[in-house]
Amino acid sequence: MRIEILNTGTELLLGNTVNTHAAWFGRELFKLGLRISRQTTVPDGDAIRDAMSESVARADALIVTGGLGPTSDDLTREITAEVLGIDLITDEAALRSLENFFALRGRPMAQANLKQALVPVGCDVLPNPNGTAPGVYVPPRLNGRSNCAVFLLPGPPRELYPMAHAEVFPRLRALSGVENPPSVLELKFTGIGESDFHQGIDAELAAIPGLEYGYCAHIGEVDLRLIGPPAALEEGRRIALGRFSSFLISDDGSSLEATVVRLLTERTMTLATAESCTGGLISHRLTNVPGASAVFTHGFATYANAAKISLLGVSPGDLEIHGAVSEVVARQMAAGALAASGADVAVSVTGIAGPDGGSDEKPVGTAWIGLAAKGAETTAFKVFHPRNRHDFKLAVSQAALEAVRRHVLGL
Ligand code: ATP
Ligand code: MG
Repeated sequence: MRIEILNTGTELLLGNTVNTHAAWFGRELFKLGLRISRQTTVPDGDAIRDAMSESVARADALIVTGGLGPTSDDLTREITAEVLGIDLITDEAALRSLENFFALRGRPMAQANLKQALVPVGCDVLPNPNGTAPGVYVPPRLNGRSNCAVFLLPGPPRELYPMAHAEVFPRLRALSGVENPPSVLELKFTGIGESDFHQGIDAELAAIPGLEYGYCAHIGEVDLRLIGPPAALEEGRRIALGRFSSFLISDDGSSLEATVVRLLTERTMTLATAESCTGGLISHRLTNVPGASAVFTHGFATYANAAKISLLGVSPGDLEIHGAVSEVVARQMAAGALAASGADVAVSVTGIAGPDGGSDEKPVGTAWIGLAAKGAETTAFKVFHPRNRHDFKLAVSQAALEAVRRHVLGL
């Protein structure tokens, strides 16, 4: 079934409002086994006419959002009637519900609101319990001009979402005849890049009948998305893990920090952090996970050298000789956090976020990550992420959490 979305609103094209409706419909429809085949955004007003004419000629269903308000740039109703060649009439029930809406709030109804009760003859009026503008459903072939089912929906999310669930999705399911949504498997990996997958397993995945697959790269993470019948997903998983199992974060959408908290909880182990360049981001990510209190004991944010010395026992002499961003200091930070906290594992990070402070020897983007654990030798390794500060912090926090994951799993 070919479903198109037409989002209207000048604010969407001026960049004032992010078009979250399109993403929301994409996600919700996918759960029903349906996909958006095309999405269009147009400004308020006449531009809707061309976009709608094209869509109704091409699609089986068209979902239009916005432009059902009372103002002069809210023309979705009028243009739909024109494009489909259907007259508009005042719907008595919609008019009464409008009058009620204002009466309940003790406000007089403006003349302009009257047009919100106008609907194409023969359509279904979709109740809007959360606002003034009812939605509209024009079934296919209502007029002989178009085979496309057309939904007109209000722009405000608090009105749109409930109306879509109550009125749009049941009708689309019936029209599409899709009974069972496809299965989806999302495998999250870290420590390897998209190109590793491409070279490593692409050809094998492509050979699985009925499997659709795709990659999505984030900072320090690659998601492999598999869609298809359950047997194809299992085969895809087998191939991906056969090659990359040690890099797997999760197969259920869980984040790296959630995986770290789960692994530590299962082993009744505790963790402390000693952060310089990430300024507490690792602690923040860990404490976003429900149940983190069972495993996370101390988060030292030691941004200044003095803090590294007084809280973690880092040697002033080594700071002087090697600098704060060094293997020696990363190790001492981790060992100091382990000793001060009494945790089973401690991870440390120290790096140069930039834009200033880099040198030839230690360019902006350099970071050292230290790991200390009871009964184990303290280690450290270097990463290099020359990015803006925000992305640098995220990448370094990812590498630190990954170090903990690998340690706990004995990898
Ligand atoms: P009204 O004019 O009565 O508010 P409407 O149906 O004409 O209703 P719009 O004016 O288009 O709706 O949008 C109302 C609100 O919803 C605005 O705050 C707008 O930014 C938001 N909105 C509209 N479309 C989108 C979209 N595609 N994504 C996110 N927000 C949106
Ligand atoms: Mg509007």
